[in-house]
Amino acid sequence: MARHFKNTDPADLGDMQDRGYMQEALVEASTAARLGEVPVGAVVVKDGEIIGRGHNLRETSNDPTTHAEMIAIRQAAAALGSWRLIDCTLYVTLEPCVMCMGAIILARVPTLVYGCRDPRVGAVGSIYDFSQDERFNHRVAVTEGVLGQQCSDMLSSFFRQLRAEKKRRKQRTIENNQENPGE
Ligand SMILES: [Zn+2]
Repeated sequence: MARHFKNTDPADLGDMQDRGYMQEALVEASTAARLGEVPVGAVVVKDGEIIGRGHNLRETSNDPTTHAEMIAIRQAAAALGSWRLIDCTLYVTLEPCVMCMGAIILARVPTLVYGCRDPRVGAVGSIYDFSQDERFNHRVAVTEGVLGQQCSDMLSSFFRQLRAEKKRRKQRTIENNQENPGE
């Protein structure tokens, strides 16, 4: 019965909407994981419609700027025929880095929703907070923690698998060396 969602509180409805779009960002993140990319996904939403989506492609493209947010922002700007992403909301599974926050500010994105924090390079509260810096000519309204656990679980299971794979490879190398001593 608890799953039967009936709610008239606009605040909760907003949260439900945020979770729905974050779910779409998670779909992008899992596409990245299948490609062996760190699983981060993003979507840009305007008037209830997804106008840009992207997932991290750094390894595939050998391009350090191909973060999920950058790809989604480019797509949204192309769809709108404008570099100003007015009235858009960017959903991303991981707290944006300095480059992506730079792009969010340059694109005048008014609203950002992200899943989990990135304590190493996050620029929306972790190591910097670009969202409210008065030296920039644009402020970004931020909601964090939407489906945060799922976003963070996807990252940790990816890195866990990566470590296991590395360990297996190392083990195979040792075994090969034992079989062929002196080589
Ligand atoms: Zn980034």
